[in-house]
Amino acid sequence: MSVEPLRLMHVHAHPDDESSKGAATTAKYVAEGVDVHVVTCTGGERGDVLNPKIDPATIEDIQAVRRAEMDAAREILGVKQDWLGFVDSGWPDGDPKPPLPEGCFALVPVEEAAEPLVRLIRTFRPHVMTTYDERGGYPHPDHIACHLVSMEAFRAAADPERYPDAGEPWQVAKLYFHHTFNRPRAVAISEAMEAAGLASPYADRLKEWEPDPAWDARITTRVPCAEWFETRDRALLAHATQIDPDGFWFAVPMEVQQATWPHEDYELVESHVPTELPETDLFAGLRDGVWEG
Ligand SMILES: [Zn+2]
Repeated sequence: MSVEPLRLMHVHAHPDDESSKGAATTAKYVAEGVDVHVVTCTGGERGDVLNPKIDPATIEDIQAVRRAEMDAAREILGVKQDWLGFVDSGWPDGDPKPPLPEGCFALVPVEEAAEPLVRLIRTFRPHVMTTYDERGGYPHPDHIACHLVSMEAFRAAADPERYPDAGEPWQVAKLYFHHTFNRPRAVAISEAMEAAGLASPYADRLKEWEPDPAWDARITTRVPCAEWFETRDRALLAHATQIDPDGFWFAVPMEVQQATWPHEDYELVESHVPTELPETDLFAGLRDGVWEG
């Protein structure tokens, strides 16, 4: 048995992403005694107010509001959290898309943006790290940048020749991509909703969402966490400006979610410990020994 607690680091683009992707997994591992550290690349300064019950005109300092929301979500999830301190790139609206705002996260060179993350990895020394896939999970420029910066930092943190002033090298044992919003899940939940005589919030989305079996086959790991969906929802609601409590996110009854898709899904991208696929635990291969990094 490992003497030290297991450590998990999630790297996310904005405050609220830690609550919409993998949050039930987080709550489950925290309850088990795993040390979970969320890294948030940007302050979410350019996020729109998405909750119709909040009048954007009443918000003077969106950055302060989003920090307070993150504090509340952090408490609910029971995690540590750090900001990398980059500025939200915003969602480029228009055709053609407008240029990204000067100084934003997505314009910072990857090598420069990765430095503070390398430092955090070498300090926290996670056994497992998660980030987004190369498409960003959803094509926000900050999500793509989060992927690139995470990959750079994951590799560089273990290399004594890279970022020599950012701490002692640390090899993260396993790296995962989130696949929370996969098509098979949307199909299964849609079918369950229709069978229950309810309208599926995924119906429109699925009309345009072409099957992509090769993409879906990338899922290697399903972490059972239905018991923690309510904690996930409370954390998400803490980001009050970003979430419509009567909207899409909460349109599927809890029982339907728990019965239909009682896990969160991941892709194992790199492992330095032996493990057998498919997995049901991000720490598979790490439970019986001491990982020295
Ligand atoms: Zn985001």
